[in-house]
Amino acid sequence: MLIFEKSKKGRHLSLLPPLDVPAVELTGGNQREQELHLPEVSENELSRHYSELAKKTHGVNDGFYPLGSCTMKYNPKINDEMAGLSGFTEVHPLQPLHTVQGCLEVLQTAERYLSEITGMDRMTFQPAAGAHGEFTGLLLMKAYHHARNEQNRTKIIVPDSAHGTNPASAAMAGYSVVSIPSREDGCVDLEKLREAVGEDTAGLMLTNPNTVGLFDKNILEITRIVHEAGGLCYYDGANLNAVMGTVRPGDMGFDVIHLNLHKTFSTPHGGGGPGSGAVGCKNLLAEFLPVDLTEGKGAYYFVDPEHSIGRVKSFYGNFLVVVRALTYLLTLGKEGIPEASTHAVLNANYMMACLKDKYTMAYDEICMHEFVMSLKDLKKDTGVSALDISKGLLDNGIHPPTMYFPLIVEEALMVEPTETETKETLDEAVEVFLQLYETAHKDAESLHLAPLHTPITRLDEVEAARHPKLRYEII
Ligand SMILES: *Cc1c(COP(=O)(O)O)cnc(C)c1O
Repeated sequence: MLIFEKSKKGRHLSLLPPLDVPAVELTGGNQREQELHLPEVSENELSRHYSELAKKTHGVNDGFYPLGSCTMKYNPKINDEMAGLSGFTEVHPLQPLHTVQGCLEVLQTAERYLSEITGMDRMTFQPAAGAHGEFTGLLLMKAYHHARNEQNRTKIIVPDSAHGTNPASAAMAGYSVVSIPSREDGCVDLEKLREAVGEDTAGLMLTNPNTVGLFDKNILEITRIVHEAGGLCYYDGANLNAVMGTVRPGDMGFDVIHLNLHKTFSTPHGGGGPGSGAVGCKNLLAEFLPVDLTEGKGAYYFVDPEHSIGRVKSFYGNFLVVVRALTYLLTLGKEGIPEASTHAVLNANYMMACLKDKYTMAYDEICMHEFVMSLKDLKKDTGVSALDISKGLLDNGIHPPTMYFPLIVEEALMVEPTETETKETLDEAVEVFLQLYETAHKDAESLHLAPLHTPITRLDEVEAARHPKLRYEII
């Protein structure tokens, strides 16, 4: 029931303090012609309304959420406590810099730590999301080539195992995209890469681990081929939780990287944000950064780098996401960072090993933080699709994995357990997956109908996408 439907004329809650300034009558054309439609409810009803809504959603606090590539892991509450400190929340972006030195120190410390983790020299926190970071990184690459008078470099190479945002960002940045296929083993086809590079290559974007959850074992050769052709190498580090503290993209030959602080560095991001797509780069790209945070004479201040690409977001980016990331880094420390990534990898491999007798893995190799199964055979044998299994998981209190992505795997389910789950949770999830496999063979029809125990049962997804109802019509 919508809150508008609970409304009763004249019922109200007294949240506003009494008026302490003279009331002003609006005159001229400023009055509303109709009364404002606001729901009129008591405080109690309001509170219950939102509690009811909260119960209808599924979050990390409710249960397992293995949504591949999205890293829906548990975010320690202390991060939010720190981000809620009044020294951070009550500053204004237009305040003089000498009054926000503490905030600038947070930015600088986070820059230092994350540069160390990624093997980069500099970092900016302006971009508001991963894709925004990709766009920013590509503009840095473009500015670099233009400064060297190499405007002829107009192509970005993107393997077909890249995250979907990579080709989209390259196109947004004005590049043409050259897609190269993966080999059987899920890695970049080096022959195809050698054929693709040339004088028109601006660079390569590599999602690593790629979208099938594999670390490309030829990574050093890949960056060498691109550099020899005069291109730059971009590392999509949205899923750095697979490798952080173990290997550094900067050491593998990458010139620029983005991180998703809202994924790897623990900010709640279900429902769309806020995020931070921090971009790190080597010194050769530093003069093009949107803005440079510098320290001198005991104070932090900003300078616009000489050949800056310009700001990509107002002010400091999503600052409180950086506060959470820094809190997370300081909590984990030097030992905790690699431990988190090894657990992410261990958990994914454990689940994969438990499932692979029944479910077909797209690539039967040691995976990184996630793995992809193909339900092609299951669908052929039983008629039960990846969608049906996902809906069956919902009935068991588990959020479905990412479905039908990556596109290079038929009937794909992409499972990312994350490092924050216990063995017991993984075992329970494995049990549910195995039961659903049995059900698919014994009673496929029941899975076509699932979910039956959720607030909303199976949706007509085409109708929902084509004719969404996005607002309440007041009658
Ligand atoms: C999530 C993700 C992105 C995009 O990040 P957004 O913050 O959603 O824009 C890019 N690349 C990879 C590999 C990702 O997993």
